Amino acid sequence: MISPTQPLIITIDGPAGTGKSSVAHMLAMRLGLEFLDTGAMYRAAALLAIENSIPIDDGESIATALASTTLVFDWKSSPPTLLLSGRDVSPFIRTAEVTEAVSPVSACSDVRREMVRRQREIASAHPRLVTEGRDQGSVVFPDAPLRIYLEADARVRAQRRVAQLRAAGHVADEASILRAIQHRDHVDSTRAVGPLRIPTGADRVDTSHLDLEAVVSTLEHLARERLGARLPIANTAVVRH
Ligand code: C5P
Repeated sequence: MISPTQPLIITIDGPAGTGKSSVAHMLAMRLGLEFLDTGAMYRAAALLAIENSIPIDDGESIATALASTTLVFDWKSSPPTLLLSGRDVSPFIRTAEVTEAVSPVSACSDVRREMVRRQREIASAHPRLVTEGRDQGSVVFPDAPLRIYLEADARVRAQRRVAQLRAAGHVADEASILRAIQHRDHVDSTRAVGPLRIPTGADRVDTSHLDLEAVVSTLEHLARERLGARLPIANTAVVRH
């Protein structure tokens, strides 16, 4: 029998706005696994470049700066917070400035090499993971037993982003957000190294017409069907009368 303590990696890839981070975090909690947000790592690299006035396409200099920087997650919080040289950068990595800079930064091959190395190192220390990004199933963990690709219509993704921003009290223009999403998709999927693509043999889930709960339930079902004994038994609610 396979023990539910053996290494187990589930990868979730897909473009911006498919809800990957929330889905991956919720799925990890339901399956009793840890959660790795690799987009946060690339965002921290972009922040590092901006704060040190390094041009965002100078991959060699960004990788050099990264080499003398610690980038670690605090696994005690849920989702884990990202510490850049000991500083919690969560409040700074989702700004418009970082979001604009992150695709060019993550297209740099030196930056990607360093991130892939760190992600595999994280997985050695945290071997039971749901990890999400753009290249997790295709490049970083191609042997993962469950690799998922989330997709959604670009217009739906833009509408979700608008709703999030408005809920947070910001002004949001749908047309410009749609253009930004399409631009980021283009840069992410046409770069030479680790481009966004559907990993061979991955399960594709279209989230255009599903809400968060429906996506998580679909993936949980898929994981339990495929990985059964490698997962802890589901927490079933006890109804008392
Ligand atoms: O997922 P999130 O939107 O936070 O990712 C931010 C950016 O980081 C993406 O647009 C992409 O350019 C980059 N990224 C990447 N590879 C990953 C995760 C994120 O290139 N594995």
